[in-house]
Amino acid sequence: MQCPRCGGGFEMAGGGQHARCMRCLTLFTMGPQGPTQVQVQAPGGGQNQEFENMMAQNLGFGPPPAGAGRHNIPDMRVGDMNVRVKINGMSPENYAKDKVSSMIWGWIIGGIIILLLIIGGGVLGVYIWYSAKHTNDPVAPKPAEAATWDGKSTYTCDGNENVSLKGVKATAGVVAGGNCHLTLDNCNITAPIGISSDGNARVTVTGGSVTGSTNSIKADGLSQVTVTGATIKGKVAKDGLAKVIGAQ
Ligand SMILES: [Zn+2]
Repeated sequence: MQCPRCGGGFEMAGGGQHARCMRCLTLFTMGPQGPTQVQVQAPGGGQNQEFENMMAQNLGFGPPPAGAGRHNIPDMRVGDMNVRVKINGMSPENYAKDKVSSMIWGWIIGGIIILLLIIGGGVLGVYIWYSAKHTNDPVAPKPAEAATWDGKSTYTCDGNENVSLKGVKATAGVVAGGNCHLTLDNCNITAPIGISSDGNARVTVTGGSVTGSTNSIKADGLSQVTVTGATIKGKVAKDGLAKVIGAQ
């Protein structure tokens, strides 16, 4: 069989479905009525031999024989019975456009995803910062509230109180219970029991003195008494899991 355009020989592909002229590289589909020329339009229109070669490769043809090409057609008339080749059900130019647009859509979607990640990261960051700031609030030690004490009757702190007594000369003791945080700053206490702590109380003694005829410090429960630079006179009593740091 010969090429109806230039008389060149055919090479076949696709199990005899497709034919290509080895001389002018025109593609044909083989139908019952004989070869029908396949007009391949490059993306953007017009004819492009490289694009056509690519199409031919898709149909199963190898690289074009040397010297072959359109210039071998004596008459450049384009055949009347043209059939458009389709890839994946699309004409080549639509196929190319589809590829390009899916690439662009890929970029757009990728961009949106990155943008969402940035926004999400920002929101998460703000959330972490916010919650960390607020979680830290109860953890951060609040300054103790200055309390007044005449030193003549027992000073009691309880509950979640956080108080400090400064420079008090007392003839009565302090009793700390609950979750009370009590700071004795340069206080001088002289009493049968100077400091009595219980529950989960925290007593900090800084400077001054504690003198107890029975006990200077009596710590019970899970309470803790910390002495720093204070003079402790009298027996220190400690029960169970209570702790007295800095005095014996
Ligand atoms: Zn030909």
